Amino acid sequence: MSKKKALITGVTGQDGAYLSQLLLGKGYEVHGILRRSASAEVIDARLKWLDIAEQVTLQDGNLTDISSLIRIIQKVEPDEIYNLGAQSFVKSSWQQPVLTGQVTAIGVSNILEAVRIVAPQARFYQASSSEMYGLIQEPMQSEKTPFYPRSPYAVAKLYGHWITVNYRESFGLHASSGILFNHESPLRGIEFVTRKITDGVARIKLGKAKTLALGNLDAKRDWGHARDYVKAMWLMLQQDKPDDYVVATGRTETVREFCRLAFGHVGLNYEDHVVVDSRFMRPAEVDVLLGDSSKARKFLGWAPETTLEQLAAEMVEADLKRNTA
Ligand code: GDP
Repeated sequence: MSKKKALITGVTGQDGAYLSQLLLGKGYEVHGILRRSASAEVIDARLKWLDIAEQVTLQDGNLTDISSLIRIIQKVEPDEIYNLGAQSFVKSSWQQPVLTGQVTAIGVSNILEAVRIVAPQARFYQASSSEMYGLIQEPMQSEKTPFYPRSPYAVAKLYGHWITVNYRESFGLHASSGILFNHESPLRGIEFVTRKITDGVARIKLGKAKTLALGNLDAKRDWGHARDYVKAMWLMLQQDKPDDYVVATGRTETVREFCRLAFGHVGLNYEDHVVVDSRFMRPAEVDVLLGDSSKARKFLGWAPETTLEQLAAEMVEADLKRNTA
């Protein structure tokens, strides 16, 4: 049997890197769509960090350019397509709301159209987000909880979510959507709060900084490990029927608690170093997220394998290494 082929948008991001690693381990031929940028030398840094850059074939394209998507899908003939590409940082979505809509919302239409035109038999995964719950309508959010997006990012993700459902229902595509709660790792972008904290801890521990400026310490998130979460993506595409699944740990903690864990890992007290700076507050906040992943646990046999304590420790250790390198 010939190798299965996967095509990943957002392959240079955190999830793209872990998903590539998972699929390569399963014997897939992995292709990723690369959005050209001036800083070419850092583009495959995450793939390099996992030591898989040589094994992933990068294709030049862009979610906002449907012709590039059509050509790539024609050339690669993928069995599975994972749409992980997005303008993914909530805070930036207020600074660049139109771009966020073009990439994170209309980009999904572009790739779904390309799939429908060129490879309607391919299986499709859409990276939906817990941010779609925003101003939460139920204390624990499941696939049945109504959405209430609170940022241009979340509004765009909601479009991507529903257009995926619509293409499944309209055209019979094998299109599934994973509503993933926050997932972190040493490969998380430094603009996100967990990585900003673990990098700050490392710099303070190594004497390179004294304080760490953060925004709302009372926000609560259900944080898991990206390496665990990409397994759920793959499992969704192995099912006979496409569907939507919440992927979460079922534990929510404050940003403050994550600080306590991360600083505590190196014997520091976060209260001695963290300062609150209004620059990092948001025009509209998502106060708390807590996911109910019973459906994924029952039907996919998925469960998170990493605790928040282990996650924080792994991230701090990686940032200590990076900051001494
Ligand atoms: P998000 O859930 O996708 O927005 O992930 P983030 O990691 O960017 O933010 C998680 C939460 O941390 C949000 O409620 C932020 O308001 C809060 N937060 C507090 N301080 C900071 C900060 O300095 N940077 C970021 N990114 N978030 C912060």
